[in-house]
Amino acid sequence: MQIPGIHHVTAIASDPQRNLDFYAGKLGLRLVKLTVNFDDPGTYHLYYGNRAGSPGTIMTFFPWPGAPRGRHGTGQATVTAFAIPRTSVGFWAEALCTEPYERFDEQVIPFEDPDGLALELVTEDSQGEGNEVLGFHGVTLSESGYESTAKLLTETFGYRLAKQEKNRFRYRAHGAIGSVVDLLCQPDKRSGSMGAGTVHHVAFRAESDMQQLQWREKVSSIGYDVTPVLDRQYFHSIYFREPGGVLFEIATDPPGFTIDEPFETLGTHLKMPAWLEPQRARIEATLPKLTMPPAAK
Ligand code: ZN
Repeated sequence: MQIPGIHHVTAIASDPQRNLDFYAGKLGLRLVKLTVNFDDPGTYHLYYGNRAGSPGTIMTFFPWPGAPRGRHGTGQATVTAFAIPRTSVGFWAEALCTEPYERFDEQVIPFEDPDGLALELVTEDSQGEGNEVLGFHGVTLSESGYESTAKLLTETFGYRLAKQEKNRFRYRAHGAIGSVVDLLCQPDKRSGSMGAGTVHHVAFRAESDMQQLQWREKVSSIGYDVTPVLDRQYFHSIYFREPGGVLFEIATDPPGFTIDEPFETLGTHLKMPAWLEPQRARIEATLPKLTMPPAAK
């Protein structure tokens, strides 16, 4: 049993419209689910992905209007990288007004979202044409020490050490998308704190509910405190904190985003779980109105 790669990354934002304009408008991702934060239903939970909303392409946000910025530092996923076709580097460098640079054998375009979340576009050789963002390349975890996290990735998750350059250790899973975890060993850097512009957690894929239970057993057996399985409507989740302090989740591929609306209209209507439906009118009245950016229509 091996983890194929990242399922989704969840981050904190401030203004929801600005977030939507950036990810759906500028980056051209599809808003695959418009829903509320189940623990705070007066605020949105926005899910972006590829056309199909496939695991490995899903970036999600809790936008809290006016949320103060967090601090980037150790114990965090400090950079989230999306894969792009190699031929699209020029297009994206111009669109984001950023110079690409070379790291390992890839071109990297670094940029930030409007809340200061650090992002990269990274070239992938084998996939895609045009200028489409293909899904995740991977994440960079900033750690004050990396060995225990490395051990979890290799001995438990089934990742292998693929490359190393200075204090950057690259681990790879076998999946075709979102397979990279870079550990950046930064013992002198101060720890991060949660807030707008920071990643809340990184979710890895389990291909079935059965596999997720096996993962729960396995991770628990090596000494981690793992939550029970939680129903997130579009997937089922377990959470635990990795040794460097980053919150990890293992999320199931099924049931996916078409469980409560058809593929064609994903993300166009506010969806909420059955237990919140009785409060829909009140919740809708609280939420700020959102307008789809022109490029995303
Ligand atoms: Zn999650």
